[in-house]
Parts: sequence; structure tokens; C-alpha cells
Amino acid sequence: MPDIGKERHPAFVVDQMLGELARWLRLLGHDTYYSKELNDDELIEYSKEENRVLVTCDQRLYSRAMRKGVRALLLRPDSLVNRLAVLARTYGIELRVKPEDSRCPLCNGEIREVSDLVKLDGRVPSKVLSTNRKFWVCNSCNHVYWVGGHWRNIAKTVDEVKRSLTP
Ligand SMILES: [Zn+2]
Repeated sequence: MPDIGKERHPAFVVDQMLGELARWLRLLGHDTYYSKELNDDELIEYSKEENRVLVTCDQRLYSRAMRKGVRALLLRPDSLVNRLAVLARTYGIELRVKPEDSRCPLCNGEIREVSDLVKLDGRVPSKVLSTNRKFWVCNSCNHVYWVGGHWRNIAKTVDEVKRSLTP
């Protein structure tokens, strides 16, 4: 198989059916466009203009993208873990979630650490504020993140993907 673009840090366009996968790619730090507003032609055009990899589970969209010279990846019906494994294998995606390198799963914005925790007063529950020292905020939508209980699930999924990649 030819080396299809194992560039260091590819950006993606993810089709409408793959919202969960889009959030994961953002969490793993990849610039990932996901929106229900563009139709198939526009998705292809946008992928081409921005040199993004179009990730889809739609055979027709995939074929059309390939005909237009857009890099595309067709995903089979499969679990999230297996799909992430395919992406990791194909594009050398690093399977490590570091909040400071993540993108906002909600809007794809860049995330920065909050230096002045006073600014978070009233924006996160006071219990969370008193038990966490590090917080991050999205530059675009202002959503606040911290390493809470859900983090265990994120780490568990990442571990499962890694295991499925080990022969
Ligand atoms: Zn955001």
C-alpha cells in the first residue's frame, strides 16, 4: 500500500454521520471540521481547498472525493474503538490526550489553560473549582474544561485503541 499522507498532523473533514469520531479527533488534537451545514459537494470542495482528509462512511461520497483528487478515508460500519484504530494506523495519529494540545470537541476551537482561576467563578461548580487546579477554556466558544471523572472513560477508550493496534 502506498504511503497515503502520513504527514505529521493532518486536518480532517468528517461527514455528518460521524459526529462522535469528529469529537475524538478534536480531543486528540486534530483540526477537524464537522458540520451539518455543508452538502456532499461542499464537503469535497472544502476538503480540497484546505488540504484536509475527508473521513466518511458513505461509499458514494468517498468515490466522488477520490475522483476529484481529494484524500479520503472510507470507514466500514464498526465500533468507535476500531474506527479510531484505523485512523491511527493510517495517519499515524498519536493516541494520547493532552488537554493543552486538544481542540474543543464542541466547536474545534483552540484551547488554552486558564491562568487566573478567579475568572471561573460562577462558570464552573464551586466544588469542581475547589478540587481542581488546572482548567482550560476554548478560545472560540468559551467552554471550560477540566480533568474530571469522565477522564477515566477517555483514558479507557484510548487504551482500548492502543491494545487493538498491538499485534
Ligand atoms: Zn469550543
